[in-house]
Amino acid sequence: MSSVRSAYTDSLCFYSGHTPLELAETYGTPLYVYNEGVLRERCRDLMKLSGHPGYGVNYSVKANANPAILKIIRDEGLVVDAMSPGELHLDTIAGFPPEKILYISNNNSAEELRNAVKRALLVSVDSLSQLAAFGRLNAGGRVMVRFNPGIGAGHHAKVVTAGKETKFGVTPDRLDEVFALLDKYQLTLAGINQHIGSLFMTPDGYLDAAAVLLDLAERLPAGALNKLEIMDFGGGFGIPYRKYDGEGRLNLVELGARLHALITGWSAKTGYAGRFLVEPGRYIAAECGILLGRVYAVKNNGDKRYVGTDLGFNTLVRPAMYDSFHDVEIYRADSGKTGQETMPQTIVGNICESGDILAKNRLLPIMREGDVLGLLDAGAYGFVMASNYNQRCLPAEVLIRSDGTAQPIRRRETLDDLTRCLL
Ligand SMILES: *Cc1c(COP(=O)(O)O)cnc(C)c1O
Repeated sequence: MSSVRSAYTDSLCFYSGHTPLELAETYGTPLYVYNEGVLRERCRDLMKLSGHPGYGVNYSVKANANPAILKIIRDEGLVVDAMSPGELHLDTIAGFPPEKILYISNNNSAEELRNAVKRALLVSVDSLSQLAAFGRLNAGGRVMVRFNPGIGAGHHAKVVTAGKETKFGVTPDRLDEVFALLDKYQLTLAGINQHIGSLFMTPDGYLDAAAVLLDLAERLPAGALNKLEIMDFGGGFGIPYRKYDGEGRLNLVELGARLHALITGWSAKTGYAGRFLVEPGRYIAAECGILLGRVYAVKNNGDKRYVGTDLGFNTLVRPAMYDSFHDVEIYRADSGKTGQETMPQTIVGNICESGDILAKNRLLPIMREGDVLGLLDAGAYGFVMASNYNQRCLPAEVLIRSDGTAQPIRRRETLDDLTRCLL
């Protein structure tokens, strides 16, 4: 393809028989483009981590909730979680029956909990007060409890979800109170889960935390272990965002071997015959998605070159919210001989905020008006976190099918959509 910087997507044939320029032309920008083959490959990577009969992968729908994506994930044999009535709704639309949905909630209203009891296999509560609320509306039922193992991990303080400094989970020192409430409402503890944070790139922290959850299960009051059906170790599996720097992948061969040994050994020791779930979101969905946008203005402010695009933080908030790094590809029809001269450039969006920065001071080929840019690894926490800020319409989404066809899976919002809920 004629383009300035596209070695990564070229190597995968990401756009199949299409080109990003043609897709941008046909569907407009900003545009989320997903590749079915990459999505399926990531599902398969994780499904084969362990051959233990109880092992399974519970996709965390908050990463990407488009039903077209969810259907592919269902087809690959994964189950799903949901954290809100909306996610539950989309899981159901994508064809997941209640027995394939776990509701991993926090701070839900009684009505939301009641809805989840009807539509999910199990509901996980993450505080004593939610456990009591659940007991009041579903006495005699089965419930999961999310524990906070006291170990956190993550790429940014905002995504560390265990340890003392986070809002999540019940700490194990409250076990007596958990069981008092279970007793009070004749609830059965059918599962325990945790999620220590997002984006780990080496197996150790995750495996340590998994071992802590298994230990906790052994410390439950007599008889409780026999009633457990699900041990859910949480997500957080990282992906290499620095593709053009050759960042290595998470070693799934090592992680899989050690996880398999851990759960196999533990089942043999305890007689546990239930399921073991991992709960990744990003690992499944991030790399199958690229966000396309267009350069509309370039300028030098002082000694800095700014590249102005239609990719504001309303379309991809991760850089502004977490200081995240997304690699950038540059597509141009007539890349010519002069296309490779580089200089540091800052790619910004069209939102009226100085924090509206997608990529800061990157040494990249000099970008020009009319170029199409691709922000890599935008399939997770991309569209789902997009907003209407500055009253901009939400972007469209297109899926490149394994047979090469480009299938629109969400239309671009219109101005009428912006006023839909006004009274
Ligand atoms: C966000 C979340 C996940 C998935 O996290 P990733 O980093 O995308 O793998 C899993 N479980 C829970 C409870 C979560 O909140």
